[in-house]
Amino acid sequence: MMNNNFDDFVVIGSGFGGSIPANKLVNAGYKVTLLERGPWRNSLPVKSMGISRRASYPHGWKFYSHVLKTFHASYMPKNGLGVNKYGLFEVFHNKNIINACTSGVGGGSHAYSGLHQRATVPNYWDGHADGVSNASIDRHYDEVMTKFGSRLKVPADNVPNTSAELFEGDDFFSSSNTFDEPANGILYPKLPGNPQLVKTEAGVLRKESAYDDDSFLGSPTGAKGSLDFIYLAEAIKNGLVVKDLCQVTSIHRFTSKGETFYCTKVVDLYHAVEREYFSKRVILAAGALNTMKLLFHSRDVAKGLSGMPQLGQRVGSNGDHGGYWALNDKSRNFSKGLPIHGPIGIPGEEQTYTIMCGIPGLQHVPLPQRLKASISRGVILAGMGQDACDGVASYKNNRFVIDYTPDNSAIFTDINRCLDIAEHHSGKKMYRLPINFTVHTCGGASLGADVNTGVIGAGGEVFDNPGLYVTDGAALPAAPGGPPSMTIAAWASYVAEGLIAQGQ
Ligand SMILES: Cc1cc2nc3c(=O)[nH]c(=O)nc-3n(C[C@H](O)[C@H](O)[C@H](O)COP(=O)(O)OP(=O)(O)OC[C@H]3O[C@@H](n4cnc5c(N)ncnc54)[C@H](O)[C@@H]3O)c2cc1C
Repeated sequence: MMNNNFDDFVVIGSGFGGSIPANKLVNAGYKVTLLERGPWRNSLPVKSMGISRRASYPHGWKFYSHVLKTFHASYMPKNGLGVNKYGLFEVFHNKNIINACTSGVGGGSHAYSGLHQRATVPNYWDGHADGVSNASIDRHYDEVMTKFGSRLKVPADNVPNTSAELFEGDDFFSSSNTFDEPANGILYPKLPGNPQLVKTEAGVLRKESAYDDDSFLGSPTGAKGSLDFIYLAEAIKNGLVVKDLCQVTSIHRFTSKGETFYCTKVVDLYHAVEREYFSKRVILAAGALNTMKLLFHSRDVAKGLSGMPQLGQRVGSNGDHGGYWALNDKSRNFSKGLPIHGPIGIPGEEQTYTIMCGIPGLQHVPLPQRLKASISRGVILAGMGQDACDGVASYKNNRFVIDYTPDNSAIFTDINRCLDIAEHHSGKKMYRLPINFTVHTCGGASLGADVNTGVIGAGGEVFDNPGLYVTDGAALPAAPGGPPSMTIAAWASYVAEGLIAQGQ
């Protein structure tokens, strides 16, 4: 059993929930293999890491071939419509909500806007499970943000199109609400307008931000910090094995000589062969949607796991909602700047988390120049907040579905009111999607006090499957209210340190 193919830990998924434990565990001397279904991306940092098998971002004409990995809907085949294994996004079209996530080494850090923030819900971590509290998790937020080098923008950064600049002197809108402004995981240029190449401590090359290309289609220069080079470059030097294009299909727990082990089955998407990885422990971090899917499939179809009566319960959307605000300001190009231009304060609505987003990266989308110029004259006004987290995910006949009722969550009424006020006060049209859309799915394998209130306990371990841990968005006990990546990262860091401390 104990041969070279046997790991202390197999980590599934390389997003915030996966890369951080992988890094900590190898640094502590464990033998770790990380399995990621997506490819390495073709960025300056990844190239400088010596990774030769890299896939394009969805830029230029590759937008059409590389933007979508898989599309799931009730009118599609059970396993969804597979578009391209190199695609960046996976979309689940459910009845009342669309849930989107990403694929690639580094997970959601390629598509995210780089907003770094603690949970905005007060005392978020308190009261869910004995031993877990705001006090015990807090320092992990600081540690991750320091590693990303994230900080607030300051006037000397000369960032274009900030909400502070836009609303200066405005007698109605302002650039603050009751929430602290989020920090940004962006490498600000020392000399704005003159971005320079920089070598990180791990010997990785990246370029300072030019303020025009660090958003939802990736950051080819590495100006936006992503997990592939911030956490994995160092971990690989310390022995981490990363298997890209390696899609986990099921997880199997077994016992040998009184000890529990795991067999993780995968399809190697590059060579089109099936493989098995054996380990003492498994850290599951495939992102909330795919973690739930893998747990359901492993329990109900592959019969490799058992129990988990709360699996699929308490699924939330973090209250994501917004609209395109057609400001039609001909003096501006809102696709320049940071991905998020800043908070927006709407009189009487300061308790609702609202931000103004540009569309940097739009230059890579092959659309007519006039259309792109027209889109760039407006912004996305986005809101988020704590929803009821009462969605229920199920897996029947291999079809993964989320039953979610936005009407149960007051946050959507609050955000819609903000959108109405912004539209009416400005006299500029607000275009909303006809269905709720979230990139912040959380819960479904949540932290709880016991097997009847959650799927995992205080140390992140699945109650009835010892040695299996959940460290991604699925683990969250409630919606964090603001951008969730740092809350996921802090949890993942906390769980990894707990394992190291126990000598697991
Ligand atoms: C457009 C966009 C903007 C965003 N902006 C922000 C922001 O500014 N701030 C913020 O805090 N959050 C933001 N988010 C959300 C943030 O990206 C996610 O909350 C975060 O990435 C979730 O981390 P995770 O570890 O749970 O999952 P992920 O980061 O999604 O990582 C999961 C990984 O697992 C892999 N995987 C899935 N299934 C399998 C399988 N079967 N086998 C192997 N690997 C698998 C996936 O390919 C993926 O790489 C944004 C998201 C999007 C899409």
